[in-house]
Amino acid sequence: MTIAQLARKTVRELTPYQSARRIGGSGDIWLNANESPFANEYTIKCDRLNRYSSCQPEELLQAYADYASVKKEQVLTSRGADEGIELLIRAFCEPNQDSILYCPPTYGMYAISAETFDVQTKTVPLTAEWQLNLPEIETCLDGVKLIFVCSPNNPTGNLINRRDIEALLDMTAGKALVVVDEAYIDFCPEASTVDLLDQYPNLVILRTLSKAFALAGLRCGFTLANSEVIELLLKVIAPYPVPVPVTDIAVQALSPSGLAKTKFQVLDIHANRAYLQAGLGMLPDVTVFDGYGNYLLVKFPNADALFNALWEHGIILRRSPIENCIRISIGSRDECEKTLAFIREQLEQKPA
Ligand SMILES: *Cc1c(COP(=O)(O)O)cnc(C)c1O
Repeated sequence: MTIAQLARKTVRELTPYQSARRIGGSGDIWLNANESPFANEYTIKCDRLNRYSSCQPEELLQAYADYASVKKEQVLTSRGADEGIELLIRAFCEPNQDSILYCPPTYGMYAISAETFDVQTKTVPLTAEWQLNLPEIETCLDGVKLIFVCSPNNPTGNLINRRDIEALLDMTAGKALVVVDEAYIDFCPEASTVDLLDQYPNLVILRTLSKAFALAGLRCGFTLANSEVIELLLKVIAPYPVPVPVTDIAVQALSPSGLAKTKFQVLDIHANRAYLQAGLGMLPDVTVFDGYGNYLLVKFPNADALFNALWEHGIILRRSPIENCIRISIGSRDECEKTLAFIREQLEQKPA
């Protein structure tokens, strides 16, 4: 037997998530992974690294609970929100029996995590307005344990109607958990569903420090849910999931001065997003969709050629599965200006 044949069938057949990092590219403007352009400074203490970390560091849970206006018992911290997705699937879905449901076009990791654990995936595409198709979802709930709803949705950028999320929570009460992925909610905190936690025992919310908090490299995420759900997730999490330096840095990011800094940086990104949206929106045959996160989905007349020209020029953006659409992360003002200028030049070159 070859080593490859020793692997599980599921793993042999799996296509890994095509993360921005895996796709590669070379350039000096990276607007393909919804990272923050801000690199903030932190201090770390190295005097207790001989000891294991606590499984769920109290000070980190408390800091995030205070930030999110929930109780500490409603918070779980993990290696990014991505690990939260995985823990939910492992804790709630019986392999080769239960399913998750998600609504494309959306974030790719729900499907990949499910497939890795031999959990089936059901899809109910978003409507033409990129909203939940509730009647269709209702007909597909057999065997579904988790329903992933991403708001603001990646890659479309829009918010999912709160009323629809509430209707979905009612529809699935006692049958399935509704997991609202709020990875980008810090760019529009007023749209959070976190206030519904006390009302709905089947609501789970995913959060991360990777986007607005400018800490993608830290790998720190949070799952917010009622304590019953959190306790189940704690049964399947690794014994020491949060490295000591991660807690040190995350607690600084969630301190009053850290939060103030993030607030300013979010305002800056809003301004750059408005700049890019206005600039791109003026170009002929270009559609910029309203976006609530740190990225914009943009439709171009010939997205493939444009994407490649940008790539060759060292401006790395993200292809989207939506026809002729490119997702552009909001970078610094300088990066936005250079990207807009290059795109304008390319589109003007094209003969009509
Ligand atoms: C970036 C992203 C995540 C993952 O965040 P990490 O905390 O970095 O793992 C989850 N969901 C969505 C929609 C994202 O865009």
